[in-house]
Amino acid sequence: MLLKKELSLNENYEVIVVGGGPSGCAAAIASARDGAKTLLIESTYCLGGMGTNGLVPFWCGLDNGGPLCSTGIGKTVIERAATRLYKGAGTPWGHTAIDAEGLKLTYDELVTEAGADVLFGTQCVGAETDGEGNVTALILANKRGLNAYRAKVYVDTTGDADLVAFAGGEYQLGDELGEMQAGTLCFTLSNVHLEGYEKINHTKIWPLPEGSGYRHIVDGHVVPAIIGENAVGFNAGHLVTVDGTDPLSVSENLLAGRQLAQEIVSRLKECFPEQYADAYLDRTATVLGVREGRRIRGLYTLTSEDYIARRDFPDEIARNCYNLDSHETKTERLLIAQGKKKAGSNERILYAPGESHGIPYRSLLPEKLYNVIVAGRSISAERPVMGSIRVMGTCFSTGEAAGAAAAQAVREGGYNFHLLNTDTLRATLKRYGANIH
Ligand SMILES: Cc1cc2nc3c(=O)[nH]c(=O)nc-3n(C[C@H](O)[C@H](O)[C@H](O)COP(=O)(O)OP(=O)(O)OC[C@H]3O[C@@H](n4cnc5c(N)ncnc54)[C@H](O)[C@@H]3O)c2cc1C
Repeated sequence: MLLKKELSLNENYEVIVVGGGPSGCAAAIASARDGAKTLLIESTYCLGGMGTNGLVPFWCGLDNGGPLCSTGIGKTVIERAATRLYKGAGTPWGHTAIDAEGLKLTYDELVTEAGADVLFGTQCVGAETDGEGNVTALILANKRGLNAYRAKVYVDTTGDADLVAFAGGEYQLGDELGEMQAGTLCFTLSNVHLEGYEKINHTKIWPLPEGSGYRHIVDGHVVPAIIGENAVGFNAGHLVTVDGTDPLSVSENLLAGRQLAQEIVSRLKECFPEQYADAYLDRTATVLGVREGRRIRGLYTLTSEDYIARRDFPDEIARNCYNLDSHETKTERLLIAQGKKKAGSNERILYAPGESHGIPYRSLLPEKLYNVIVAGRSISAERPVMGSIRVMGTCFSTGEAAGAAAAQAVREGGYNFHLLNTDTLRATLKRYGANIH
């Protein structure tokens, strides 16, 4: 057999979670706390995904002005991370800010306290299957070269459904033209003068003055959050050709993103000298901000109608309260510029405080793959709904459900997520405080 001859094979774990972002950390915690021997694999060198490496400066999807929507592990992470947050941190709109270093440590603690092992600097680059819909081993790449890991069940929390794609599962990528939401390279500024800060309308950096020479600023997308003393985190600028599954596209957009960040800083200094004259670019994110990747074709696909109807499901394992928030693709921008499409026509349907919809267990299950479950932004959802469930609050909830399901699949034997008793799963999630109807 190829694996035994050519790659070392590790069979020490019952559950392997691939990808240590918010969904992967929640999955690893949930799996390990329920007694499964769990390994969390992360290609970079810290946990947290977009919230840490990506420098996303604040949380979304925790609540929408009503009671907490993302309870369970999400609540635990936010509460522990908040103890490490600068006292004046936050946004003028009341979001809880993120201190990337405090959050890294929080994930390290919660994942290891739950009993999961972590393997940093290790990327899943392939999967072997038995030809009948079961993954038999992951192919991992790290400083030891290529090696194989075999578990009973696998959780794909890569954000791009990498494992599902490697195992031959079906997915969709982008819109009918294959285009995806614009990406962003987030960054932080230090030495900002914060007097009068809440009154600034940052979007005023756009339009650019005639002949300004800024080549990369395409709109006024600037969303700041105070993250420390005189320190501001920015989700700012749009990169309109990002395909996170194409390494060349990622590379080109990282190069462009670093130039874009410098341009935005210069433009902020021009527009708001009182606040930014002395500010300097502290750092850009080490990973590109990719809003949209592969969406699995699952046993159930969450639809816009489900979203609008605030639908509940009998096999519901999470709830989502965030608005539909899709950032325009390259072609959509062109159509807007030509007056053929209304700006902002990616509808941002807002729920009233306390409103939410359910997410069914089936939307985490890839068709024709049985021992793999997916959580985070790549669950089975129509594009507009993906623009909502992708936020970190909701990723915690789907991640926790996937991890609990993985531990249950190990406990029950059979290792087939499609046959799992969802009443048992829902009872487990409720016991741990999950918000499900
Ligand atoms: C620019 C931008 C701004 C955003 N702003 C906000 C915001 O303000 N608030 C909010 O709540 N959400 C925001 N989001 C959305 C949110 O951050 C992401 O959708 C969310 O982090 C997705 O979580 P995830 O766990 O699915 O994936 P990710 O956070 O992307 O984590 C995936 C992890 O898996 C690892 N990985 C990937 N592939 C592999 C592999 N093959 N092998 C091993 N490891 C792998 C990655 O390194 C990463 O750590 C923003 C997103 C972007 C891009």
